Amino acid sequence: MSDRDDRRAQTPEAASTGGLNRDRQPHLVVIGAGIVGACTALEALSAGFRVTILEPGEPGGEQAASYGNGCWLSPMSVIPPAGPGLWKKIPRFLTDPLGPLAIRWSYLPRVAPWLIRYLRAGWTEARVEAAARALRPLLKDAPALHKALAARAGVARLIEQRGLMYIYETRAQFESEAMAWRIRRKVGVEWLELDADEMRQREPELDRRYRFGVLVEEGGHCRDPGAYVAALVAQAVAEGATLRRARASGFRIEAGRLRAVVTDAGELAADRAVICAGAHSRALAAAAGSPVPLESERGYHAMLPGAEIGPRTPMMPYDGKMSVTWTDRGLRCSGQVEIAGLDAAPNWKRAEILRDHLLRSFPRLPRDLKPGEVKVWMGHRPSMPDGLPCLGPSRASGDVLLGFGHGHVGLVAGPRSAQILGAMLAGRVPPVPAEPFLPSRFG
Ligand SMILES: Cc1cc2nc3c(=O)[nH]c(=O)nc-3n(C[C@H](O)[C@H](O)[C@H](O)COP(=O)(O)OP(=O)(O)OC[C@H]3O[C@@H](n4cnc5c(N)ncnc54)[C@H](O)[C@@H]3O)c2cc1C
Repeated sequence: MSDRDDRRAQTPEAASTGGLNRDRQPHLVVIGAGIVGACTALEALSAGFRVTILEPGEPGGEQAASYGNGCWLSPMSVIPPAGPGLWKKIPRFLTDPLGPLAIRWSYLPRVAPWLIRYLRAGWTEARVEAAARALRPLLKDAPALHKALAARAGVARLIEQRGLMYIYETRAQFESEAMAWRIRRKVGVEWLELDADEMRQREPELDRRYRFGVLVEEGGHCRDPGAYVAALVAQAVAEGATLRRARASGFRIEAGRLRAVVTDAGELAADRAVICAGAHSRALAAAAGSPVPLESERGYHAMLPGAEIGPRTPMMPYDGKMSVTWTDRGLRCSGQVEIAGLDAAPNWKRAEILRDHLLRSFPRLPRDLKPGEVKVWMGHRPSMPDGLPCLGPSRASGDVLLGFGHGHVGLVAGPRSAQILGAMLAGRVPPVPAEPFLPSRFG
């Protein structure tokens, strides 16, 4: 069989038209069971692949960013983290270890090349707008896509769509973010502006210092992202996928074709693979010939499992740079960006900052919290310097796709990213323009 015939035999279409049995279906290994891996596995099953999911931990477990995030399904999160003039704040990021964005001194030499790319990506408004235009199709309709997936997995109640709110002490604070809101409007985001009275009516428990709000009605949220991911993976298994508790470490690629995924439990024969290991994907991508600049932007949450007071709509206070969302596990407050790599110990003072801000935002929450009454968590946002994910073929083999790098928007972007990856696997045209996300943009 020639190489070309061989490739045709490994597309699902070829398998189905040839009436081949399950063992002859092309075998796809999805590496990592966070939100991106879970959605990709379901998409690939629909496209006719035989699927194995490789995951050393619990799907959607605490090791994954997908477990402890802010739960926002925010189609308006199109503004990449770096913007014009951010470079001026670098000294503060280095000297204030508890600021909303901090860089550990000891990690600076290692992260410097990524940081330079990060600053350059947001150097001008035009660059920020280009990123927003690329991201909007990835995020638009996300709540509807999540609802459909959740229904497929029998957990429809986990996805809600009652808008998302940004809250400010003054209108001037909102206007200080004029560039971001201008670009959001240009890419089609709409919102309602709320004055102090409307805020009071909508959010009676919210501290009175917040006197201006912006409600984005198209936004949604997930009531428990960890349970949601676990349910999606269970659904994939129910539809025929295999879940293997192993850690991928590389690939056996011969003459440009994938033969096997190498794991800590031996080799797993595979026709195709997608790297969805979140912030841990860098070494795997390099093993597939694509040494892309992936970095961890560490984040935290503080959660009050017994809280009885909180917001009606998930919200983001301007002065706290965090999201406050009811979850099935309690009232969760998430945020903070800490650049310190994958291995440094968590700095739990950051979670305390989130907790204290939460208590200041909702004055009727109990003050005398005992240690067990606050749950804290730290996780790794998988972040590319330009704020766009990496979706597409690796350099060493078109059989190995990169599917990571979603930074602050991995939960919301999971289903559409999986559709793009599914289309690439099946040789179809992706549902939205995928060029901005191709790993080849990094050379
Ligand atoms: C504090 C915080 C708040 C956030 N808030 C939001 C939000 O409100 N909305 C939003 O859209 N996004 C949010 N995010 C970002 C979002 O959580 C991430 O972008 C997203 O979860 C990344 O998903 P993932 O599947 O790529 O990676 P992960 O969820 O990290 O999953 C990767 C999986 O791969 C596994 N793995 C690692 N190495 C290997 C290996 N070698 N072999 C096999 N498996 C491996 C891991 O065990 C893990 O289960 C937030 C993140 C943080 C930290």
